[in-house]
Amino acid sequence: MARFPIGEFKDLTTPFYFYDLALLDRTLAELNRASRDDRYHVHYAMKANANPAILRRIQGAGLGIDAVSGWEIKAALEAGFKGSQIVFAGVGKTDSEIILALENGVGCFNVESVPELEVINDLAEGLGLVAKVAIRVNPNIDAHTHAYITTGLAENKFGINLEQLPDVIEKAQSLSNIALEGLHFHIGSQITETEPFIMLCERINGLLDEWEAKEVKFKTINVGGGLGIDYNDPDRHPIPDFEGYFRAFRNHLKLRDYQQLHFELGRSVVAQCGSLITRVIYVKEGTTKRFAVVDAGFTDLIRPALYNAHHRIENISSPNSERHHYDVVGPICESSDCFGKDELLPALRRGDFLALRSAGAYGEIMASQYNCRPLPSSYFSEK
Ligand SMILES: *Cc1c(COP(=O)(O)O)cnc(C)c1O
Repeated sequence: MARFPIGEFKDLTTPFYFYDLALLDRTLAELNRASRDDRYHVHYAMKANANPAILRRIQGAGLGIDAVSGWEIKAALEAGFKGSQIVFAGVGKTDSEIILALENGVGCFNVESVPELEVINDLAEGLGLVAKVAIRVNPNIDAHTHAYITTGLAENKFGINLEQLPDVIEKAQSLSNIALEGLHFHIGSQITETEPFIMLCERINGLLDEWEAKEVKFKTINVGGGLGIDYNDPDRHPIPDFEGYFRAFRNHLKLRDYQQLHFELGRSVVAQCGSLITRVIYVKEGTTKRFAVVDAGFTDLIRPALYNAHHRIENISSPNSERHHYDVVGPICESSDCFGKDELLPALRRGDFLALRSAGAYGEIMASQYNCRPLPSSYFSEK
């Protein structure tokens, strides 16, 4: 079990996010070590966590940013990232967001449709600029063998289908304020096997051969993010297997000498350094079940309610007492406000602190104010 400064928690209002910045630093160091190739560039997908303290750490480690909204671009600039270090993705970029990105010199627009290309071209022309663009390709990687791949399939709002790609590339080349620099891919999230990434490499190799034969060269290849983490045993795997992840690309992707390889990792960078800390309000005995009602709800951490995800739950107040089964539920008036069913936990008492582990990604940033609840605050440890 991870150690928490529980003495310091006593005076804090729960629920709150607790971030282990020392672990974040170790994770960033290992990421930088594993991605050491000069042509490899990691853009942190800030939709996973945009807490300013976290962003500053990531900026300090030299990563770039993958932003999916104009507000994220602003937050990244405020955290010290340069416009040129930011790539701007998203299926629905508005005119004002595109203008903001152009004015701040973002490194690349990841473009998802022909109308978007035309709008970026028009707005860039109005500003007397040329927009650097990568086309997001939907690689249609077979989901039957990998059910967790959800964004890389043919029938999906993201990206350009392989059949339509030639026309879109031609279109991009015809626009005078568009510089077509690359191809972009992103096959899904929480991928814990290497195989889907190898399949992606093979798909890209085929495309590069095909386009080189037509004398089209792409300066950048962006393979997106998606590397998963160990939600079951965060203490055994506090840092994801970055080495194995980058090795898959090193061994399987036939990157040309003139090409740069971009990555957009989100979850794997920040998930394990964050926990949601909550207090037990009531232990309620049902006829067949025992409920632990806690003061955090899906407004603070929505992944269980939204994706049926599970975060490891720990009783950090009395970790050694006799274990019982509990349904751990929140205070919100929805049945989906449940963090775990039949959790075997050291006996819970009113006032005990629970840690919901691996909550650093898609946790705090997805918090809402449903039921007029305040947003959770955040605390940091450097030790
Ligand atoms: C969400 C997203 C990412 C990051 O995904 P993770 O699974 O958090 O690594 C990267 N690229 C794009 C385009 C995304 O939408």
